[in-house]
Amino acid sequence: MDCIFCKIIAGEIPSNKLYEDEKVYAFYDIAPEAPVHFLVIPKEHIKCASDINDSNSDIIAHIFTVISKLAKELSLDDGYRIVNNCGQNGGQTVEHLHFHVLGGRLLAWPPG
Ligand code: AMP
Repeated sequence: MDCIFCKIIAGEIPSNKLYEDEKVYAFYDIAPEAPVHFLVIPKEHIKCASDINDSNSDIIAHIFTVISKLAKELSLDDGYRIVNNCGQNGGQTVEHLHFHVLGGRLLAWPPG
């Protein structure tokens, strides 16, 4: 499968890894939009949020648990934003489910 994030998980493309366990992989975004900007992805290839269902939704709880731990480790004590872009109108550019975590500055709302 020609998926850049699957290749990052496999170590075929380098990444700045932040965390890894048997189910998820977290790494810094190559084009950060905030002082802290990392991505958390499932190791299982899930294309986007629309493909979450009863048989694979456990991974979402795990991803959010990992995000909570990593945000504490990175001292994002003033808060942060978790973003998932889904599909073309959502602005998704990589078709492997991922959650952006942005922090370290005040983030505008609503997004453009
Ligand atoms: P999205 O637009 O929501 O699909 O987000 C994809 C994100 O992946 C963007 O923020 C990119 O900067 C990031 N990205 C793409 N390729 C890499 C890479 N090789 N290493 C780290 N981040 C990447």
